[in-house]
Amino acid sequence: MDSEISAAISSGNSKTAGLNVQELNSIFHDKSADDLLKWGFETFGNTIVAGTGFGSSGIVILHRLVELGLPVKAFCLDTNLLFHETHQLWNNIEKEFGIGIEVVSPILTLDGQKIHHKDKLWATDADQCCTIRKVLPLKKYLANKKAWITGLRRSQSTTRRSIEKIEWDAESKTYKLNPLADWSAEKVWQYIHSYKLPYNALHNEGYPSIGCIPCTHPANDPSNERSGRWANLEKTECGIHILNQLPRNKNSHPKPE
Ligand code: SF4
Repeated sequence: MDSEISAAISSGNSKTAGLNVQELNSIFHDKSADDLLKWGFETFGNTIVAGTGFGSSGIVILHRLVELGLPVKAFCLDTNLLFHETHQLWNNIEKEFGIGIEVVSPILTLDGQKIHHKDKLWATDADQCCTIRKVLPLKKYLANKKAWITGLRRSQSTTRRSIEKIEWDAESKTYKLNPLADWSAEKVWQYIHSYKLPYNALHNEGYPSIGCIPCTHPANDPSNERSGRWANLEKTECGIHILNQLPRNKNSHPKPE
């Protein structure tokens, strides 16, 4: 292991379970996505996992892991509300990349959610719906993991502008690696097209960012990839990413007129 990386590890504190995240970020600032992925596997072994929702960045990360021969287990939070096109892509990726992608499911089925909470909870309390269908299942899944890889990019939205390549996720007490933090959307798509990788058919229909069916619309602001997510609400994140270590966005009320 590189000596400057070893030093960053030994100078960490108990709050971040031993790694000096700030120092690691200055080391990885100019390093490539591959460098970070390789370091992640060398450091965390089979306790690091890769999360994907089958967005364009996620496809790049899964492909890099395969190309690098890193046996990092991938998973997807299946809210039971994903588009048919997303499931089609999931099948294609598994076949084409020769990998299996683990399903992480909420405890409550949609019928259970209707009985214990409300029918179409996403329409009245999107934060609670995201907590049940995304945040809690992820927290449970990560309980015995040390790190996870995401496709977060700074260029995706204003709220993601200051993400770091390595973050301490205090909610799940894991490290979060964002290897594409400094990639633009153009770079992601150049990569996908140059390797002729499969991608979600909805991207060709005006959806740059794709989540659950009820909360995903075509983007209404071309400068904001995520403007079609919760388009009629002030909510911008589902809650699995706590950006800048600020409390989770609790605004699920409608945008002011
Ligand atoms: S994105 Fe919408 S449907 Fe999906 S879990 Fe969140 S509120 Fe529920």
